[in-house]
Amino acid sequence: MLAGQGVVVGGERVHRILIVEDESHLAEGLRFNLEAEGYAVEIAEDGPAGEKALNEASEPFGLVILDVMLPGMSGFELAQRIRAAGNFVPILILTAKDAAQDLIRGIEDGADDYLTKPFHLDELLARVRGLLRRRRWDGVDPQGDSMRSFKIGATTVHFDRFELETPNGLVELTVREMGLLRALIDREGATVTRGDLLQDVWGLRADTKTRVIDSFIVRLRRYIEPNPAHPKHIVSVRGHGYRLNR
Ligand code: CA
Repeated sequence: MLAGQGVVVGGERVHRILIVEDESHLAEGLRFNLEAEGYAVEIAEDGPAGEKALNEASEPFGLVILDVMLPGMSGFELAQRIRAAGNFVPILILTAKDAAQDLIRGIEDGADDYLTKPFHLDELLARVRGLLRRRRWDGVDPQGDSMRSFKIGATTVHFDRFELETPNGLVELTVREMGLLRALIDREGATVTRGDLLQDVWGLRADTKTRVIDSFIVRLRRYIEPNPAHPKHIVSVRGHGYRLNR
């Protein structure tokens, strides 16, 4: 899991990014700008081509930028298939403006972040850097954050590496998984409401109707709990939210 997350060129790791986008002028514009930032970029023009590129990649991609409206297979369907195949590469969804329902659906299908079209290049680059942060293993925290790790039961959370050290081995977290865990850790021992988590971790309105938190909690419990069916570290508080116990 830890090997080969990027191509090494001149001693520096180059992140590989897959763009799945059928509007070629947009795809090429993104490629130009991302390459200017030092990323290695591949373009797939539809869903099946995107899936093929992921399956046949000689070096794993560090990020997928995924359009929703695609011929052959929607971006949502592709996101679902990527996750169903056990691939947890960060996914940034590009969706039409004002499509709140789209955003929720995309997150439920496995996207880590989203941008609405049209977007500013600066914003895209900021999201890309954020999503690739979990690929850094140098242990340097640019935020100067004092808390680098945290122990929950037999598991150690490494914030700077986006990793969990569990009795069963290392688990790499997505940006949202880490965001959720961090939100619970920040309020350790207290109940964090679902509304707070939707706002803080996903940037959604507190009253958004979605099951996204539930599926992420299931994932975190699978990593952290000795017996996920009877959680003792990430506890449900009926009608309110969740509480983290060490
Ligand atoms: Ca499109």
